[in-house]
Amino acid sequence: MSSHITAVYQGVDGAYSQLVLEAWFAARGMDVRTVGVPSYREVATSLAGLRADAGVLPIENAIVGTVRETYDLLAEYDAMPIGEALMRTDHHLLGVRGASLSDVREVLAHPLVIAECGRFLSSLTQARAIPCEDTGVAAREVSRGGNPSIAALAPASAAALYDLVELARDCADDPRTFSRFLILRPRIAAPGALNDLKTSAHRKTSLIFTLADAPGKLARALAHLDAAKVNLSKLESKPRLGHASDHVFYVDLDGDAADERVAEALEGIRREAQTLTVLGSYDAHQGEPLEAGSDDATATTRPPLVTSRAHLSNSSHGLGSTAAKSPKPAAAFPRVDRESKPHGTVVQVGGVRIGGGDFTIIGGPCSVESREQVMATAQAVKAAGAVMLRGGAFKPRTSPYAFQGLGWEGVALLAEAGRATGLPTISEVMTIDQVERMAAQVDMLQIGARNMQNFDLLKAVGRSGHPVLLKRGFSATIEEVLSAAEYILSEGNPHVALCERGIRTFEQATRNTLDLSAIPVLRERTHLPILVDPSHAVGVRRWISPLCMAAKAVGADGLLIEVHPNPPEAKSDKEQALTFGDFAQIVDDLAKVPMASYASVEV
Ligand code: PEP
Ligand code: MN
Repeated sequence: MSSHITAVYQGVDGAYSQLVLEAWFAARGMDVRTVGVPSYREVATSLAGLRADAGVLPIENAIVGTVRETYDLLAEYDAMPIGEALMRTDHHLLGVRGASLSDVREVLAHPLVIAECGRFLSSLTQARAIPCEDTGVAAREVSRGGNPSIAALAPASAAALYDLVELARDCADDPRTFSRFLILRPRIAAPGALNDLKTSAHRKTSLIFTLADAPGKLARALAHLDAAKVNLSKLESKPRLGHASDHVFYVDLDGDAADERVAEALEGIRREAQTLTVLGSYDAHQGEPLEAGSDDATATTRPPLVTSRAHLSNSSHGLGSTAAKSPKPAAAFPRVDRESKPHGTVVQVGGVRIGGGDFTIIGGPCSVESREQVMATAQAVKAAGAVMLRGGAFKPRTSPYAFQGLGWEGVALLAEAGRATGLPTISEVMTIDQVERMAAQVDMLQIGARNMQNFDLLKAVGRSGHPVLLKRGFSATIEEVLSAAEYILSEGNPHVALCERGIRTFEQATRNTLDLSAIPVLRERTHLPILVDPSHAVGVRRWISPLCMAAKAVGADGLLIEVHPNPPEAKSDKEQALTFGDFAQIVDDLAKVPMASYASVEV
């Protein structure tokens, strides 16, 4: 075996995805080191952040259909398919030594596997199925627990790996069931070994497109395939979130996007569709599905059992040595630079869009102070026309004796107000260990001005894959803002919006000086959307309104504004908090201000 590849999959040792990686690379004479990560999203962010050379995601199952989550991740992150693998998923019921089928009361299994084994599971009248994040985890937990009443549905190979015995064989409702996987690599700097891979003559292309709800739309889109004699190998649809009458279509075609006929068909679909994302072209699987238990799917040199997380956290520069050696792109901000995405980024936070021509207003208190305060503010800003709710729970205060925020209690109250009003939420994270827990509860993470150059924190929010609002440091140059954003994107997280919130100048009349000129400059330099926070910039309630108007007129993508039910009583930043009435008036007035368009600017 030659070239060494580090490849990520979701799960732990024994997962089907791991078997797929081993089989796919072995068939190409390549040695692969597989590393399990906890989620599909982390597979995508590991690739986009160049922490792995390759990865795998399940995208379809013969019984359950499309795994939409993974298709959507491919559209979201800079990861592209290079190959397809079909694997027969032969599920066996595995238990601890000495257990028998009649002992079993609980069956741990991946949700897809539960769906594939419905008849078998209902035959175990005494047992209930418990969903588990992956097959390897199911087997590992049974082994660790040592309890004869708990079993796992897993491939035969997991029995040896975890010292389990087979209680029942071939548990899938249909023995022909299989899953379809895509082998992936980072989209931008691919390592040498993968660049040298020969592509086969049998290629496939995967795409996602959205169509407006109108008679004949789909037929017209598909007619382009027929006209170009391109075979459609998969078509599935779902309603489009936030646009219930439109539909998203998940489509696979035979052929490579670079083939003339396929390119012609794609061009036709592009004309019909509202959006079209070509996920990439890759080698199609040839022949029968791989057998999970057979030698062609099980590496002969399986590495010793290790906890997969250790691989990740022990290496400060990410997973793979090969990935780290990839050639560095030349531009200073290759991922943030406008050139890399001339049409601009839209950051999607729940159903809210930041960028793309929308003017997004975020309102809420500086700090969450109580359930009543945050709920009343949420309702008032929503009624006025805000589409997101802000609220600090961990507050970066100049004095250690000033109110520091309610911490996790504040986060829970903010999340509750968000759920009650349907407004996506944003709150600041100050430390790395807050990132994961905050991301689980709020929709967007805020990096405050004081942390704009806390590089380890930037990397952590980058790895989270969660939408991030990056505020400009009060003494940061535009170059430094762009560099800070590059840190987040370089970890594989493209969901970043910037926020101009005033810089420190010699002027003392206002809290900071709102750098309005940063908006057109940033527009030119980066594709990331830009919000303006006039509250922290000017610091004085009565001057916020004119700056809101100016921000829209100069081309900001929206505003972040502090609002309080009773500003003089606010526990932080009371001088700048708007009353509900002031806020509503500003939102009304903004409707009369045109948003600067940069469409005609030659960049
Ligand atoms: C805030 O928005 O709550 C805040 C503290 O702002 P900044 O980091 O811009 O000072
Ligand atoms: Mn504040």
